[in-house]
Amino acid sequence: MNELRLPDGVRMTSQRRAVLQAVAAARGSFTVAELHERARAREPRLGLATTYRTLDLLRQTGAVHALHGGERPVYVRCGPRHHHHLVCTSCGAVEDTDLCAAPPEAEVRRRHGFQPSAHEVDIYGTCRRCAA
Ligand SMILES: [Zn+2]
Ligand SMILES: [Zn+2]
Ligand SMILES: [Zn+2]
Repeated sequence: MNELRLPDGVRMTSQRRAVLQAVAAARGSFTVAELHERARAREPRLGLATTYRTLDLLRQTGAVHALHGGERPVYVRCGPRHHHHLVCTSCGAVEDTDLCAAPPEAEVRRRHGFQPSAHEVDIYGTCRRCAA
């Protein structure tokens, strides 16, 4: 997994470090509230707003990805290589796949006159363990 860092020019504080450490220790997906709770074990004065903002900084670096398919946003650690997420709606497990579910760029251009530059696809369903 790629190392967690803040975007260039953003100062590291002890509160932000606590959030980074909590993200680094996270297994599977987590909500902001869960992350806040864990990071507060190190930094008792850490606020929820700071947790949110720090998580947002990590999204800017690509180290964290937000999953929007559930009732509440859930976050997972992420990496720079091209991949998508398989999200189990039963147990919450998140698995990476290098299968790409996006339409070919040429097809998007032809049908919509739109030049794609990036895409995000998360696939929701039932994982192997829950299906068994
Ligand atoms: Zn990812
Ligand atoms: Zn599952
Ligand atoms: Zn893709």
